[in-house]
Amino acid sequence: AISFLTILYIITNHSSNISNFDANDLFNQVSDYRIQYNNKLIAESENTETSSNHEPLTWPQLLKALTFDKTLFKNIGEDISKENMDFFREVYSKRITEPKFSKLTYNEFKDNNGNVKVLSKDEYPRANATLLTLVRNQELQDIVYTLRQLEAHWNHKFHYPYTFINDEPFTQEFKDTIKRHTVSDCYFEVIPPDMWNKPANIDENIETEKINKLKEKGVQYIDKVSYHNMCRFNSGYFYKMERLQQFRYYWRFEPATDYYCNIDYDLFKFMEDNNKTYGFTISLYDNPLTVETLWPVTLEFLEKNPQYAHPNGAFRWLTENVQHPDYNQITGGYSTCHFWSNFEIGDMDFYRGEAYSAWMDALDEAGGFYYERWGDAPVHSVGLGLFEDRSKIHWFRDIGYHHSPYKNIPNSDKCSAPEDSGYFAPEDVHDQNCLSNWIRLEMTNKELQDY
Ligand code: GDP
Ligand code: MN
Repeated sequence: AISFLTILYIITNHSSNISNFDANDLFNQVSDYRIQYNNKLIAESENTETSSNHEPLTWPQLLKALTFDKTLFKNIGEDISKENMDFFREVYSKRITEPKFSKLTYNEFKDNNGNVKVLSKDEYPRANATLLTLVRNQELQDIVYTLRQLEAHWNHKFHYPYTFINDEPFTQEFKDTIKRHTVSDCYFEVIPPDMWNKPANIDENIETEKINKLKEKGVQYIDKVSYHNMCRFNSGYFYKMERLQQFRYYWRFEPATDYYCNIDYDLFKFMEDNNKTYGFTISLYDNPLTVETLWPVTLEFLEKNPQYAHPNGAFRWLTENVQHPDYNQITGGYSTCHFWSNFEIGDMDFYRGEAYSAWMDALDEAGGFYYERWGDAPVHSVGLGLFEDRSKIHWFRDIGYHHSPYKNIPNSDKCSAPEDSGYFAPEDVHDQNCLSNWIRLEMTNKELQDY
């Protein structure tokens, strides 16, 4: 058996490594990280500007910013999907551990005698946050499977509460089983019908006609009304639920997903202390048929309300049209690139803010949650890319994650199978990866050195 002293020694040693890290120092020492990659893979234009001192954009300026400049990719070869995957693998080949930010919070404190102490559930000062999942009673085994990984890799140190949401009441068995797997507080909430069901403005004749057309084209889940309800709820309503009013940050998780890495620092405090609005692990293209009119409806909204656009938005990632020009043709200018939302850590105050709220009203009015199949991932992503400063969007490259068929596998000794890092998915869907665009078009060199 390991003695108590040995354990104390390990903890003390660990915590001494983490103190007083000065990020600025590091940025000065390390040479330009992106330049260490194959130069020809790097977009010409440098993203080194910071978010300060941006004037609001007029509509003509905004329209120009939302027109993709293809010359950004002029040095990239013919087969952009392949080059993007090569770039992706090159980025993942870097050995990483934790983000090199000046403040990471651990649940390890020194008491007055210099002894390291781990605070209990009641003692640890948590951020205002909850783990969150929309889930059905019949998914109990799958949600327990994932919750156990969340506990083992992260939450056993911090004891953040869980909120379970359902359009039907949870069974007693569901609640009892969950509570056997965590000491954290658990809330079980039923969605009010008007936040879940199809709203009155949806014309069922138009809906039937549109859905039948998309069904012929093989769009997945297109005739499943509960799926449309789910997408609309996750886009614009979950953060309005009564229980969630008490929280600012959420970590969304889904049944049967995997988490591969130990995360030793408090992720919610990371968001708060580093002024982040949103964090993701995987970025993909979407089926453009599901969002055919999302972009035109959004442009119409922006023409009336250009002041809502953030001058430092992620416009290039939203409008890139080189890897899948056919997608942009269908969507009228949206790349379909999005943050995959089945894992996400976000600040609900962003959704509750004026810009996103007004835009959600316009989306609801247009009806595309039912006439098409607008997903919550593209809706969150377009909202964030337009209305938020892109420097407040964080790629959590240290959170190993899997939702079939895509993975984020960090090259880190905190993760299982780091030798598999750079694996993304089966080869036939490699062209669906949009993360290289995010890195090339939106991240600054400084941000690439954050790990
Ligand atoms: P996919 O990832 O797009 O294939 O969709 P999922 O089937 O995984 O659904 C996304 C999330 O919403 C999961 O957490 C599901 O458990 C949940 N979900 C989907 N439909 C419903 C529903 O009708 N009721 C409830 N309560 N949850 C749902
Ligand atoms: Mn899923």
